[in-house]
Amino acid sequence: MAKSKAKAGTRKTIRCYLCGQELDVSARTMSTTCPGCNKAIKVEDLLVKSYLPVNDLQTCGMIKITKRGRVAAKIIQSGDGIECEGAIEGDVETDGHVRLGPKASWKGKVLRCGSIDIAVGATIIGELKIPWVRKKSRKIII
Ligand SMILES: [Zn+2]
Repeated sequence: MAKSKAKAGTRKTIRCYLCGQELDVSARTMSTTCPGCNKAIKVEDLLVKSYLPVNDLQTCGMIKITKRGRVAAKIIQSGDGIECEGAIEGDVETDGHVRLGPKASWKGKVLRCGSIDIAVGATIIGELKIPWVRKKSRKIII
């Protein structure tokens, strides 16, 4: 008898952007409660297509900012990285990869990320700290 692997319930490992706790969630989860800090955290990917002034922009997923998108926040935290074709104003923290397109700009105090791609033409005003990894805490499976 041929063995078939059940694909049901694809899971992914995410890390809480608030406390660094790693946890497994279903790939379709949009948000959850972190077992480390008991706070509600966002898991879904975010897409910014226009001007978005916020206090903080946070997700365990990825943040994409289109050409017309502009984020103005105190802090931008993402688990999976940031792709930016537009503008970001504010401090950035991500364990993931940051990609700044040729028309992109970032202005802030510190940009912390795992790795970065900066296209020719992109504007960077501030300090870069790379590679940066949020301190890990032990993994809990929920
Ligand atoms: Zn947490």
